[in-house]
Amino acid sequence: MRHSFMSTKSRFVSLSVLSLLMATAAVQAESLLIRNVSIVSGDNPQASTAQDVLINNGKIQAIGTRLGQADRQIDARGKYLIPGLIDSHVHLDGVPGYKGHDAKDELMLQQAKAQMPRSYAYFGFTTVLDLTGDANFIANWNSLPLGPKAYFCAPVVIPNGYPAVFFGKEGQFQLKGSQFMLYDPAQPDVYPASFNKEEHSPEAVVAIAKQQGARCIKVFYETGFGAQRNLPVPSVTLMKAVVAQAKQQSLPVFLHGNSQAAYEFALDSGVNTLVHGLWHTHKGVEPQHNHSKLDQIADQLVKAGIAVQPTIQVLYGEQELLNPAFFQNPQVQHAIPQSLIQWYQTEAGQWMNKELAGNFAPAQNPAQLYQQIKQAYQHPLNTVKKMTADLKQRGALLQFGSDTPSGPFYSQFPGINGRWEMDRWLETGLSLSQLFSAMTSGNAKALGMDHQIGLVAVGLDADLLLLNSNPLQDVRAYDEIEWVILKGKAVERSLLSATQ
Ligand SMILES: [Zn+2]
Repeated sequence: MRHSFMSTKSRFVSLSVLSLLMATAAVQAESLLIRNVSIVSGDNPQASTAQDVLINNGKIQAIGTRLGQADRQIDARGKYLIPGLIDSHVHLDGVPGYKGHDAKDELMLQQAKAQMPRSYAYFGFTTVLDLTGDANFIANWNSLPLGPKAYFCAPVVIPNGYPAVFFGKEGQFQLKGSQFMLYDPAQPDVYPASFNKEEHSPEAVVAIAKQQGARCIKVFYETGFGAQRNLPVPSVTLMKAVVAQAKQQSLPVFLHGNSQAAYEFALDSGVNTLVHGLWHTHKGVEPQHNHSKLDQIADQLVKAGIAVQPTIQVLYGEQELLNPAFFQNPQVQHAIPQSLIQWYQTEAGQWMNKELAGNFAPAQNPAQLYQQIKQAYQHPLNTVKKMTADLKQRGALLQFGSDTPSGPFYSQFPGINGRWEMDRWLETGLSLSQLFSAMTSGNAKALGMDHQIGLVAVGLDADLLLLNSNPLQDVRAYDEIEWVILKGKAVERSLLSATQ
């Protein structure tokens, strides 16, 4: 009895000593001095002359010359220090393309989930915005080591609309996210008895979102695709009420929409950001529309100050799912763990490819099928590229968001998908400088966090990347990240690779 009491007591004492030591360690985080580095930062970025940057307690403490000593120093002569990249359109839940749950896949899934945050960081992303997140999931994600810090938007939906419809007539009301479901006056008879109208008004759902720490409100204008078509969409009146409540709570409203009709809905309802490029010109509009209408819409978006995320990689990613050589890309090996790459090539892992292939005439071989999908995607890709170029020409606000993943597609894997979206931006004629600012200071503003991230400036979080070449000269500079600095902790890029 006494013995066990003693051992319990001594264990208690040693635990307190340990926690005291840990607390001290947390306060005295390692300081880091990056010497002789050229800084690239801001809305009109240029590479600076050589500077020293001192990092302490996860923040940038000083920028200057001959800044003295630190616990650790990196000599960065000839290298470039930039803010960590921000992707303002991701979906963090789940492993892309994996559905259901088979006990024999447990280890592979664990490896995949452990790698996904590291893959974002490997490709330079230190902050991500989950557009359909939830407070607990995000808190859990942020407790993982070596990944980007995540924030979330609350998904505010209507019954039977996109994406609630995927959960079924009853299931849609039983989800945790159904706390953000709106009462839709256009569908008065679809609710279960337990559904309290007052708790699902625009005012109520926006207030819950704010209370739970959401950074933004996500809404949807989507009449459907694939097996789900002619879905109900919210009325302009209902959406205006959501926008008004969100404005009161200082939450921007992000609208899912990729059609001309959705873009017109954005203009009518006054949302802040369209989270997709425009690639469907015919869906939901009268057949007599013409292309000058798109020019007009571009003008109106600029006037209304509505931002657009082109998300061109969404279409490429779908197309690449049928590329037989996809896994041979060496970049892919850094993003996706080997065990998952193997699974994706099994019968079970190919389900989405088969579903996608079903939309095309039977092909003689995989290469021919890949040609077919590339041909089919030509028109929407041309449209979204033209619209993005039009918006750029008019000085519209373009936000960088990759939509990773936009569906169950391994071809849009965390981190690498954002890197590919960079290439897509440049293909529309956007400059390296515009791309750079959109991924850093621009997205920091979109998240209302420009006082904290998105610049290399004193007092801001030390979320930084050290590159071997100048990102204003060649996009491949983003493939030459040497160090990823996460809240002041410098991690060698190679250690974040899935091959490690
Ligand atoms: Zn999305």
